[in-house]
Amino acid sequence: MSAAHVTNGDFQTEAEFISDGLKGKRSEKGFLARCPAHDDRNASLSITQSGERVLLRCFAGCSYEEVTRALRERNLWSPRNVVQRVPQNNTFYVYNDERGNPLHRTVRTQDKRFWQEHFDGGVWTTGLGPRVVLYHLDELLTRSQEPVCVAEGEKDSDRLRALGHLATTNPMGAGKWSDSYSAILAGREISLFYDNDPPSKKFAGQNHAEQVALSLIRAGCRVRIVDLPEGKDVSDFLELGHTKEDLDKLIADAPYKKTDDVIAWRSKQSTGGGSADASSDGTNGRVDLLVYLSSVPTFIQIKTVDRASRWTVSLRASD
Ligand SMILES: [Zn+2]
Repeated sequence: MSAAHVTNGDFQTEAEFISDGLKGKRSEKGFLARCPAHDDRNASLSITQSGERVLLRCFAGCSYEEVTRALRERNLWSPRNVVQRVPQNNTFYVYNDERGNPLHRTVRTQDKRFWQEHFDGGVWTTGLGPRVVLYHLDELLTRSQEPVCVAEGEKDSDRLRALGHLATTNPMGAGKWSDSYSAILAGREISLFYDNDPPSKKFAGQNHAEQVALSLIRAGCRVRIVDLPEGKDVSDFLELGHTKEDLDKLIADAPYKKTDDVIAWRSKQSTGGGSADASSDGTNGRVDLLVYLSSVPTFIQIKTVDRASRWTVSLRASD
């Protein structure tokens, strides 16, 4: 039995096993974890799977022997290929090409870590790969006359799909839409769903919806944005007891939006997720007001407590 490249969902590689044991994190080429051979405050240990071998490197200078000895003491190191294989309860969202052949997939762990893998020569390999497509691309193409639900994330997309809708999403979540995806959906009827994110998340879902809507409108789509009356996303909405009929009514009642409507819709969600700090030096009456904005607002309202105060407000975009 080889431990290499065993990423079919039921097993993990040795590198992953060691990393999990050390509470490590995925890195570009493998994993980074606190080195068990020294008092490590950083994640100094690089763990990489290379075929059947696990490559270990402590950036603080511990030797291979020191690291493997420390791992053995924690039952994280065994002679090759007898490492315990731990079943994973990961969820795999597979993205297929036009003909239904796998291209890449999103892996989601139970504790909501995500990463991307691509299908390369019959093996799932870390990274998004050379060709990135919309979720359920094959269905989008074979059901070319149907309206499309565009959701944020695979989970919500699949919830909509389970209700009979043709549904898709882009990989990697909010902020990762591309005009090339809109080109695939050009001219179609779209119902756009989004995550109702709070200011602490900088309205990422709403910003994403705005970006996606504008891109789709440019591609000649007829776009509705579906505002859910409760719940932070589609899954949440359904888990609160709402039905397909409730969702369908929300879709039917949502107006089609033009570019200006989308921008107005976005600015109505918030005035840009702003907050303000005011401070005074107490001598010459000068007050410095710092306004933090997560997107460009259509207006800024400043309320003065003291009606006699005169304000001079100048705005300077920092980005
Ligand atoms: Zn070390």
